[in-house]
Amino acid sequence: MTSSATERHLLCQRRILAEFGEQAVIGADLDAILQAACKGAGEGLGTHLAKFIQIDSEKRQMWVRSGVGWTSGVVGQETLDLEPGTPEWYSLSVEHPVISQSTALENRFTLHPFQLDNRVAAFVNVTVYAPHDQRPIGIFEVDSRTPRAFTESDVDFLRSYASLIAACFERFRITDALREAEAKLRESERRLRRAVELNPQIPWTADANGAVTSIDARWAEFSGLEREQTMGQGWREFTHPDDMPMIIKQWSVSLASLTPFDVQVRLQKNTGKYDWYQVRAYPELDEAGHCQQWYGTVEDISDRARLEASLRDWNDNLEARISERTRQLQEEQREREAAEAKLRQSQKMEAVGQLTGGIAHDFNNLLGSISASLELMQMRIAAGRVADIGKYQTLALTSVKRAAALTGRLLAFSRQQPLDPKVVDPNEVVAGLEDMIRRTMGPDVVVRCDLASVGCISCDTNQLENALLNLAINARDAMAAGGTLTLRTQRLDIDERTGKDKEMQPGPYVLISVTDDGCGMSEDVLRRAFDPFFTTKKPGQGTGLGLSMIYGFTQQSGGQIRIHSTLNVGTTISMYFPLDTRNADNTLEAVANAASLPSDRGNGEVILVVDDETGLREIAVELLTDQGYAPYEAIDSASAMKQFEKLDRVDLLITDIGLPGAINGLALAKTLKAQRPQLKVLFITGYANAEGITEGLSLGKVLSKPFSVTELSDYVRSALASEAAESENRR
Ligand code: ADP
Ligand code: MG
Repeated sequence: MTSSATERHLLCQRRILAEFGEQAVIGADLDAILQAACKGAGEGLGTHLAKFIQIDSEKRQMWVRSGVGWTSGVVGQETLDLEPGTPEWYSLSVEHPVISQSTALENRFTLHPFQLDNRVAAFVNVTVYAPHDQRPIGIFEVDSRTPRAFTESDVDFLRSYASLIAACFERFRITDALREAEAKLRESERRLRRAVELNPQIPWTADANGAVTSIDARWAEFSGLEREQTMGQGWREFTHPDDMPMIIKQWSVSLASLTPFDVQVRLQKNTGKYDWYQVRAYPELDEAGHCQQWYGTVEDISDRARLEASLRDWNDNLEARISERTRQLQEEQREREAAEAKLRQSQKMEAVGQLTGGIAHDFNNLLGSISASLELMQMRIAAGRVADIGKYQTLALTSVKRAAALTGRLLAFSRQQPLDPKVVDPNEVVAGLEDMIRRTMGPDVVVRCDLASVGCISCDTNQLENALLNLAINARDAMAAGGTLTLRTQRLDIDERTGKDKEMQPGPYVLISVTDDGCGMSEDVLRRAFDPFFTTKKPGQGTGLGLSMIYGFTQQSGGQIRIHSTLNVGTTISMYFPLDTRNADNTLEAVANAASLPSDRGNGEVILVVDDETGLREIAVELLTDQGYAPYEAIDSASAMKQFEKLDRVDLLITDIGLPGAINGLALAKTLKAQRPQLKVLFITGYANAEGITEGLSLGKVLSKPFSVTELSDYVRSALASEAAESENRR
């Protein structure tokens, strides 16, 4: 080559390099750059055959990444193993550019088949090293299809290429790394943002002097305030005036002492509404301990504040609430008590209503006896026998007193009285009621009292009377055809086992029972008898409240109530009350005294009075009842014998001797005494018939009419006493 040709050649090479250099610096596509490099180098050395083999030395693999002049299937596709014997292995091992002037003569390495296929006869190459770590990236090579001696200048030309390619690789490495870092940064920013958004605390910063320098965009969205309004000292504008002194004081303390700041304040939204916020900040200090800035958060705590406030209110008002509720409960209790009292009263009135039939009858008797007495007085006056009329006057007065006593009792019973449990002697209550019950049961029902000394119980007397009366009425209703009603008191101890059976606490009890021999109850009625409003009676005759009221009453008094009933045989209702031992001693003593002292009163002895003179008979019955006896009356012997059969206890027969009908008083006494020899007899007679009197004396005592009330009671007492003595003697 001539020197001018050489010069031209070099100039051409420099031009090619310069063009490539520009592309290498700004080109955005590495493959395009490598392709341009191959093209330029092939052109520069006049072979138009060149390639760039990229090396992955770790994997010991190579591939023909770029090239010009090659048959198809080589560039971009040919992969080669990096192993001894290959031209590349050799090139990397010698660490300088390699020239093969004639590959046919080579013994340093063997060509690859694709090189042979492309008739490669000579080549020159340079290794491209990565600038940052000097690792070989690839081999840049110009091939020739004819043997050729490459010059030093050719090698330099390629070296210039190699360094440009290396720089290019570095540029792409750095851009890739940057891009990757950027992507990572963006991702982490995204995450941070999400975390901040999820966090109810909105971040802000302030400078060392406490002027706000930034606040998260969410604050503006949330409060509706412009960011600028918040910056610097702007926050003071929308802080609640009442909270200002506190927040300023706290902030000054924190600024001065560089300690964390934490307050709860009211801030105003642009809606004008104040809400509660928690504002916190802590200082960021430099190495010298000087404050750089403050990191803070602001958090809406209005929900929490509201909750706390209502809790506080609730606590503050608790006492008021409790007393209000207590007042309400007391009020309700009062209303309930009033309603109960009304119900009790209506129950009583119902019982009284049920009694009126009987009372009317009884009143009639009393009136009859009064008018009989008056008539007798009239007769005596008319006959001029005024000496005796005082007795009739007394008898009439007694009846008047009886009637007054009866109305008094009724009125007392009907009077509305408050529930007042106190210690009472049930015997007294029963005895007090006995008279009224007896009078109202009608003539076909025999009333018996069987009272033992039982001690006291604690309950409301009125209620107990009400219960007894209701039970008596139930019994009367059950004995439509007559029968016996027994009121009984008993003392009994409930032991552990019976207590369990009867569902009662073990201990001493007083049992008050009412027994009848009426129709009894069927299983079905028995099961429902205590149900309120359960009744088997016709409308107007029963409300179905009696037993349920009594049930409630016994429960209230700490007791129990039980029914024993057999269909067509009878019923006993038993009320159990715990014995009240408070007055037990007194009571028992009283009972004992009462028993030992000779009493001029009766003790429930059953006396049958037979007289056809209604006035006298009734006066006698009145008197006897008054004195504590249990008198029954009959108008003649036939009805007396019927009564006698019904009564399973008759202590004394008082009979007129002259009676209407076939059987006179003497015969009656004989017949009855034959049936029950212990029966004591007292004859009352208006006739001075000596015979009758003598015969009468063999059977009992004889009292002549007219007699005084005192005389009658003396005779009755002594008649009964003589019987007692007689039976005593017999034992
Ligand atoms: P009332 O008497 O108004 O019907 P009670 O509650 O007093 O209501 O009685 C309920 C029912 O129990 C009565 O209707 C009756 O069927 C039955 N009963 C109550 N006591 C007796 C009794 N001594 N003998 C038979 N049945 C009775
Ligand atoms: Mg009833």
